[in-house]
Amino acid sequence: MSGSMKAIVYHAPGDIRVETVPVPSCGEGELRVKIDACAVCGTDLKTYLHGNPRIKAPMVMGHEFTGLIEMVGEGVEGFAAGERIVMATSVSCGKCAYCQRGWPNLCADLVPMGFSYPGGMAGYTTIPARAVENGHVVKVPEGVKAEHAALAEPLSCTVNACENCDIQDGDTVLVIGAGPMGIMNACMAREFGAAKLIVAEINDTRLAMCEPFGFDRLVNPATEDLAEIVMAETDGLGADVAIVAAPAAPPQEGAPLLVRKRGTVCLFASLPKGESTISLDSRPIHYGELRVVGTSDSTPAHVARAVQLLAGGSVPADGLASHVLGLDDLFKAYDLMQSGESLRVVLKP
Ligand SMILES: [Zn+2]
Ligand SMILES: [Zn+2]
Repeated sequence: MSGSMKAIVYHAPGDIRVETVPVPSCGEGELRVKIDACAVCGTDLKTYLHGNPRIKAPMVMGHEFTGLIEMVGEGVEGFAAGERIVMATSVSCGKCAYCQRGWPNLCADLVPMGFSYPGGMAGYTTIPARAVENGHVVKVPEGVKAEHAALAEPLSCTVNACENCDIQDGDTVLVIGAGPMGIMNACMAREFGAAKLIVAEINDTRLAMCEPFGFDRLVNPATEDLAEIVMAETDGLGADVAIVAAPAAPPQEGAPLLVRKRGTVCLFASLPKGESTISLDSRPIHYGELRVVGTSDSTPAHVARAVQLLAGGSVPADGLASHVLGLDDLFKAYDLMQSGESLRVVLKP
């Protein structure tokens, strides 16, 4: 097939255009996918505002996509036209020490879709052979709506966090930061068996976005004493797990004081380069035998688990995919994201 398609193309900071571009070819080992939906990530907004030196412009954006396989390249086995797929979109090499250990999200040569390979904010995208070979393509069972399947990639990052935190049935989980990823982390913690969810957020608009999800306690630490509330909710022990999904130093510094002994603190959100040195009281970590873990990105196994949970129907996907718009509405999506009125905006070509 040849022809043209609509795509969202990154050119430079502040210069992203909706353009007509050629449909990508589908070579040996590749899969071409007709895109049904692509969610807009916070990193896509950051790219627009500040640019991203890792992106080779001009580049079709978008890594949170789903679609139907439209063409199977020569030599590809195990995939057929018409199957719905999603991806672990940071494509690993399969060979380095980290890939060998089963940590492809930490691959020494990670190549993300929408950065170095054209992404999914388009009519079609072609999945590179390296991604197909290394298991980055995950099938979606029938019955999962496209706008829900598009959530598999961001949710997979929260699967990584919840696995890393070793959340157990009955745990009390504190999530600090109720942006889209904070809310998704809280939803995922519930999938992992958390019995009590406390969500803290200093922005009241964002905090109000949590209400439909039925978390147990919403706290605004700017006006309420978070530590006092967490202790009151946990018989004075502290949370079993605290996930810091706010990109700021104070919550990272404060989180070890909010978990019980042998509890876990997860640094989910990253701090900006050059502003990531924090001041940490090591005594609670030492005397409390705490674990402080980081999580970054996700593996194909995390994506597969996210898909399984989405297919099971218990993830509140309708609430998480808060807006469904067309590709032409990217800037409307950015406005919604900046004002904090949206969780995931999903674009449909
Ligand atoms: Zn993303
Ligand atoms: Zn690797």
